[in-house]
Amino acid sequence: MSELRWHPFLEQWVITATHRQDRTFLPPEDYCPLCPTRPGGFPTEVPRDDYDVVVFENRFPSLQAAPPPPAVAPTAVSPVEPARGICEVVLYSPHHRDALASMPLARIRNVARVWRDRYLALGAKDFVRYVLVFENRGEAVGVTLHHPHGQIYAFPFVPPIVERELAASRAHHARTGRCLLCDVLEQELADDRRLVLAGERFVALIPSFARYPYEVYLAPRRHQASMAEWTAADMADLAVVLKGLLAKYDALFDRPLPYVMAVHQAPTDGGDHSSCHLHFEFYPPLRSATRLKFLAGCESGAGTFINDTLAEETAAELRRAGPPSVEAVLAADRAMGG
Ligand SMILES: [Zn+2]
Ligand SMILES: [Zn+2]
Ligand SMILES: [Zn+2]
Repeated sequence: MSELRWHPFLEQWVITATHRQDRTFLPPEDYCPLCPTRPGGFPTEVPRDDYDVVVFENRFPSLQAAPPPPAVAPTAVSPVEPARGICEVVLYSPHHRDALASMPLARIRNVARVWRDRYLALGAKDFVRYVLVFENRGEAVGVTLHHPHGQIYAFPFVPPIVERELAASRAHHARTGRCLLCDVLEQELADDRRLVLAGERFVALIPSFARYPYEVYLAPRRHQASMAEWTAADMADLAVVLKGLLAKYDALFDRPLPYVMAVHQAPTDGGDHSSCHLHFEFYPPLRSATRLKFLAGCESGAGTFINDTLAEETAAELRRAGPPSVEAVLAADRAMGG
């Protein structure tokens, strides 16, 4: 069963997807379905003995190109629609223990190229209005397979957080003639207390309005609405800043940091989204090495976040952890033979 049910109070879609309850849950490393198929071994999702970056359709999709008819009839207060869309899995590496924080820059550049290709290909389909590139990492955010991978959801609607950001960006542009994120970046680069890592083309920072203690925005300095505008030089610099940031995350508490990563960029609904400025958002669910940040009464019940930390202090912690600069990330990659 899978369908879209309208939430009449929040005015947004809820996706039901009951078949996902049966998906593979934390299999032993020898039975990882995302590893290459070993000669004579059990068949995995990738019937080859090696690969670089692989994309395939999720076997337990929330959205499907040919969705089943909804299980319930729509009502006057709660419309129901088929859950049409596409869910893909992106395997970053054939190596089970790899991570974006430690893999060669050349491989991360390939991952970025794949993201861009899929944004263009999925976005070109008439029923796809938004392409969400994201990654859930770590059991704390519900990951069921440890193999390094991300996901791409091609939505039949613009998801509500993106829609809200776009409305704010459009209003700011109408008011000032400027891009909202360009203005935020200008403010953060002038007052560098919240900067985490600065590349030639991309920067990572904790915004002053962060909702999570180690929340990071990673964005191109130059105004870009979507991945469609990425050049090879953009993707090369993105790989360095992304790897450096994630290496800092893992160095912070000296263990792999769980996080949710989501890319916000222009919808593919044919509208004018020139005021949209692409960015990655990262939400690690930790408050400290051992304490999880729970979305409790104020957050879940009222939609208001309480951040127990100051962005200026957590940004300083992240600056001290891991590689100190993009030059250090590049030097380490050269030492790896990259
Ligand atoms: Zn694996
Ligand atoms: Zn901008
Ligand atoms: Zn955003």
